[in-house]
Amino acid sequence: MTIFKKAKSANQCPYCGGKGYFQLRLGGSETCSCCSGSGKK
Ligand SMILES: [Zn+2]
Repeated sequence: MTIFKKAKSANQCPYCGGKGYFQLRLGGSETCSCCSGSGKK
């Protein structure tokens, strides 16, 4: 039995998870275009 109970902050950007940027595999980071780097919705 699997229980999905992840606390999601309503004000966080769903794309970057509230960080405001994406972590690139090659190194470095890219600003989230969804929240413009604010990390908020
Ligand atoms: Zn974002």
